[in-house]
Amino acid sequence: MVERHVRARGVRDARVLGALSVVPREAFVPPELMELAYDDSPLPIEEDQTISQPYVVAVMLEALELVDGETVLEVGTGSGYSAAVLAQIAKQVFTIERHARLADHARTRLAALGFANVEVRCADGTLGWSERAPFDAIVVAAAGPDLPRALLAQLRRGGRLVMPVGTGRAQELIRVTRIGETEYRRQDLGAVRFVPLIGAEGYSEGVARTDEPHAELPPGGPLVRAASPSRPALVAKLVAECAEPIAHIDDAQLDRLLDRIGDAHVVLLGAQTHGTSEFNRMRARITQQLILRRGFSAVAIEADWPDAAVVDRYVRNQAPPAARGRPALIPFTRFPSWMWRNEETQELIEWLRAYNAETGRSVRFAGLDMYSMYTSASEVVRYLERVDPATASVARARYSRLAPWQHDPAAYGRAAVAGKLQSSEEGVVAMLRDLLAKRLDLGDAELQFDAAQNARVVADAERYYRAMYYSAVESWNLRDRHMFETLRSLLAHLGDQARVVVWEHNAHVGDATATEMAVRGEHNVGRLCREAFGDVYIIGQATHHGVVTAAHGWEEPMQRMRLRPARADSYERLCHDSGVHAFLLHLRHPAHDALRGELSEPRLERAIGVVYRPESELASHYFQAVLPDQFDELVWFDETDGVHALADGELAIARPPPLTK
Ligand code: SAM
Repeated sequence: MVERHVRARGVRDARVLGALSVVPREAFVPPELMELAYDDSPLPIEEDQTISQPYVVAVMLEALELVDGETVLEVGTGSGYSAAVLAQIAKQVFTIERHARLADHARTRLAALGFANVEVRCADGTLGWSERAPFDAIVVAAAGPDLPRALLAQLRRGGRLVMPVGTGRAQELIRVTRIGETEYRRQDLGAVRFVPLIGAEGYSEGVARTDEPHAELPPGGPLVRAASPSRPALVAKLVAECAEPIAHIDDAQLDRLLDRIGDAHVVLLGAQTHGTSEFNRMRARITQQLILRRGFSAVAIEADWPDAAVVDRYVRNQAPPAARGRPALIPFTRFPSWMWRNEETQELIEWLRAYNAETGRSVRFAGLDMYSMYTSASEVVRYLERVDPATASVARARYSRLAPWQHDPAAYGRAAVAGKLQSSEEGVVAMLRDLLAKRLDLGDAELQFDAAQNARVVADAERYYRAMYYSAVESWNLRDRHMFETLRSLLAHLGDQARVVVWEHNAHVGDATATEMAVRGEHNVGRLCREAFGDVYIIGQATHHGVVTAAHGWEEPMQRMRLRPARADSYERLCHDSGVHAFLLHLRHPAHDALRGELSEPRLERAIGVVYRPESELASHYFQAVLPDQFDELVWFDETDGVHALADGELAIARPPPLTK
């Protein structure tokens, strides 16, 4: 964590990095959040407060510029975590917390961990700790309306005070150095977001509530934050000038888009949310043109392989393989079912089926994702039962260790990493190897390809669930690598002339090197495609406000949720301020150099997956990006509607009509 999230983002102070490495953060988080202890994020603690994000602690402590033997005052003990980090560096730490329960717990924890140089007090920290003053350094872990006079007075000459100042959405991290009796030097270190400082020289209770209590820094933090764009009105005007408005997207406009796409044999179509109708309809329009006029041979979506395989047979008018007494798989039934089980996707599926039937072509529909470990395992067994019953028994044995964890694969990962059960890695990898080796022996190439892909899903998913336990970055990378490799094997399977259009979230298709993902060491499908294929075309889609179909939490019910208007410091706001309701924006056009230059200043961009949390939008849904490096083209809809989910009976694939061919 320290290497990836703290050093990689620019913190250099060896003592701060060393202290962060030795303090066990898991001892300061609530037991139920233990497994998230080494994620670089703030986490909720008692009294509706937070334990600080490690990166933020590092930035603040580095800004204190501590030298040997100093005495430090901390205001806002919280869990005691940052006091413990400080105690590794300073000679003596005094820390004040206004909530008695937090102060008591922190005192107990720090004592149990053997920190003898920390004293905890329950009081109003805005008044400082006059009996222990003066201090060499003071750090305040909550945002006040201004610098408390008492704290400035308790700073010795040469001493440093680091503290966030401002209200909910507009806070700056300030460092003050005391130069003389009444002289202080003030420096602004960048935008931050903290819980409020409540007290005599802070806010009064209830007045300064932030609506985003768990956010501390805008994603990326002050070290990589965007300089606040100086000329947003000018940039919005440039966007308006370069935009190609979409009224009713017509053939001429699609022609121009196809010209821009040129000979790319992989086209990646993104979406800022997983639940927006306009994004899916636009993807369908572009996809149809690519199939009709550029001979594209497959659509690959961010869905599980076995689910999409059912749709694939449906659109290619093929009978499902013999079921042998097992119920046929009904696609898109697992959470979040609305992501693909919706009117908009259904229309594309029906169009593909009719197109394939009319033309005799066999345009495919494939799933790139890997959340189907169990379905994929049973698909491998089902296939082998038909073609090679002896190997089917081997497969059953190899996959059997996964079976008890069917309803909670993440728990399998946890148990395997903790050494509480024997990992299935060897068996699932051997199964994939065996299936690939048997490629020529087992008849029907299509069914063999399908089974090998399912075996690949099981092997990659098994690694993914183990990685999830210790590293969010590693598991993200494994998943995007899996989706990329699936795309690559689909292209190889379809032959030299194959062209594939990919439907995934902007976060997967927009080049990761142009976003803060790269700082964390993450890659994605878009980046891997650019590296491997060169001639790819990436289109992102975004919106300002409207309705999105999403859930408030994982496995929670689907809702149609109102989308908050985009933040003032975001790309979305610039597009909104252009005044053009819907448009295509070609980001590579030579005539758009001036716009590209302006847009190359990093800004916030919004991403909503299947979960939308409007109340913590900044922390949960915004990230730093450089838009023109992320996408080749942007599709904009100022106002959007949620996808229209289908109930079980409305999904045609679940009750296929007679085959048309
Ligand atoms: N650094 C802490 C950690 O690592 O767990 C987290 C600090 S949390 C972001 C801010 C803390 O400041 C909260 O626990 C809050 O109760 C406390 N706080 C707010 N106003 C305060 C005040 N006037 N005096 C002391 N503590 C205050």
